[in-house]
Amino acid sequence: MIGTHDSTSGAHFAFTDRWGGVSAAPYESLNLGGRVGDDAANVRENRSRAAASLGLDPGGVVWMHQVHGRAVAVVDRPFADDAPVDGIVTLRPALALAVLTADCTPVLLADPVAGVAGAAHAGRPGLVAGVVPALVETMQEHGAVPERIVARTGPAVCGRCYEVPEEMRESVAAEVPEAYATTSWGTPSVDVVAGVRAQLEARGVTSLEQSAVCTMESADHFSYRREKTTGRLASYVWLEAN
Ligand SMILES: [Zn+2]
Repeated sequence: MIGTHDSTSGAHFAFTDRWGGVSAAPYESLNLGGRVGDDAANVRENRSRAAASLGLDPGGVVWMHQVHGRAVAVVDRPFADDAPVDGIVTLRPALALAVLTADCTPVLLADPVAGVAGAAHAGRPGLVAGVVPALVETMQEHGAVPERIVARTGPAVCGRCYEVPEEMRESVAAEVPEAYATTSWGTPSVDVVAGVRAQLEARGVTSLEQSAVCTMESADHFSYRREKTTGRLASYVWLEAN
């Protein structure tokens, strides 16, 4: 078993930590990111191990080329060449949607009744750009009902750790007031998860469970802010095939 995995009403949510893979330092060991300088064969092996651990077909996982934007693609298979999007939606059971992070917030959504799953990569720029509202809207266009959507956010840097310049805190809060925060040492910060939660609630998605893990504080998770050159965690959502 790699990381954590839970399911509810036929929707599965899984989050890796950094252990159980084959990559060497500074990517040790379960680096799932393909654009961080790690050996491609190691990343393939790690993705294969993670999929096997979750009971997934390694070829049935959709990976994005994340660019901190708000574009959302509707998919029924993995991209031939990872598309530059930060959100994906599928109606296909057993097709897993994956988000890569090392401090940014992975957002997983599912409406098991409608049979619609969605995933988004929301760092500070994605929060401000509105990738999460865009994801909910795209899911609604395909039959999802916000009140039925089950939501998860995965391991991410917390508001007590994510220090930013004062002007940056102001500009984020101008778009998403709930993201305004202060570090544990009293300087300006941004709470991306709080902002994501507010964006979801504003669209009627209230069934949210938030990971308790702060990537910067956890030695078991990759953190870009702490380590700079490091691996990527993956968060997966998929619908059970009936
Ligand atoms: Zn923290």
